[in-house]
Amino acid sequence: MIDLRSDTVTTPDDRMRDAAQSAAVGDDVYREDPTVAELETTVADRLGTESALYFPSGTMANQVAVRVHTDRGQEVLADRKSHVVKYELGGLADLSGLQVRMLDTDRGAPTPEQVAAGFVETELHRPGTGLLCLENTHNARGGLAIDPERIAAAAEAAHDRDVPVHLDGARVFNAATALDVPVTELVDPVDTVMISLSKGLGAPVGSMVAGPESFVEDARRTRKLFGGGMRQAGIIAAPALRALENVADLEIDHEHARVLAAGLTAVDGFAVQEPETNIVLADVEGTGLDTETVLDRLADRDVLATAFGPTTIRFCTHRDVSRPDIDAVLERIDDAF
Ligand SMILES: *Cc1c(COP(=O)(O)O)cnc(C)c1O
Repeated sequence: MIDLRSDTVTTPDDRMRDAAQSAAVGDDVYREDPTVAELETTVADRLGTESALYFPSGTMANQVAVRVHTDRGQEVLADRKSHVVKYELGGLADLSGLQVRMLDTDRGAPTPEQVAAGFVETELHRPGTGLLCLENTHNARGGLAIDPERIAAAAEAAHDRDVPVHLDGARVFNAATALDVPVTELVDPVDTVMISLSKGLGAPVGSMVAGPESFVEDARRTRKLFGGGMRQAGIIAAPALRALENVADLEIDHEHARVLAAGLTAVDGFAVQEPETNIVLADVEGTGLDTETVLDRLADRDVLATAFGPTTIRFCTHRDVSRPDIDAVLERIDDAF
């Protein structure tokens, strides 16, 4: 089976398993786990923030960050296709009592003008804008890598109105790799960032929220409220530390995505968006089949991908697929269509 559903399907390699085996641990709710502490300082250093906090998932990390930034009843500005809006079960409303003002953006990041137009002043009849959420890479738009200038311009427009900015950077290292910029250039303009260690980097579990120390202390308390206080989490933090060493390999995933996209373009009925990172979106309307049928045909040939809309499927490359795997996928798809 060649599994291109997501870059979360990677399994921990021997280095990671060894690290888990020998990890020093303690009760992290009492802040006594040295491996979690090492992971948090390492990530903060890497991202150029004061502090960072380990979470079991990216969803919890985003939701806690949003909760800490906002007051109930406020509005959150976010791209219509952003993960916090589309894929977190309405958590902004459910968990934090927020209302989302969705923006139709080009490439997933609003322009300063869009931020200005979406901003709502707090007054008798209006809730006020409490947060701007950005996403990089932008998953639902095909793994687009948003450049530092766009991030900075959107963040500045928010800051001019005293609105803080949270970056959903689940794949921010993919963005930095694709743009060939230090990751700090993508993170510096925002107040807080979420990164996933369990996506392209290959950790078995975990995401981080990074930002100012006072924010992270508040987030630690809110993480507890949301049920995310963990005990001997060094067992999972140790492989997560090893995962940080895999950033340099992301370029290989991107190369595989380019090869895959180039091959898929030649398949009858497939319209492929040119990938910028490790996500390939293919519109299969031209096959005359619905996505489920296309995915079934692939699964019959031991290739897995994901439905990403009525006629769109997503392929995601990751460290557990090789170049021969990609070539095999293309041969099998060619055979199927
Ligand atoms: C996967 C993802 C998340 C959520 O991470 P989980 O660990 O799956 O909860 C958040 N944002 C983006 C952009 C993602 O791709």
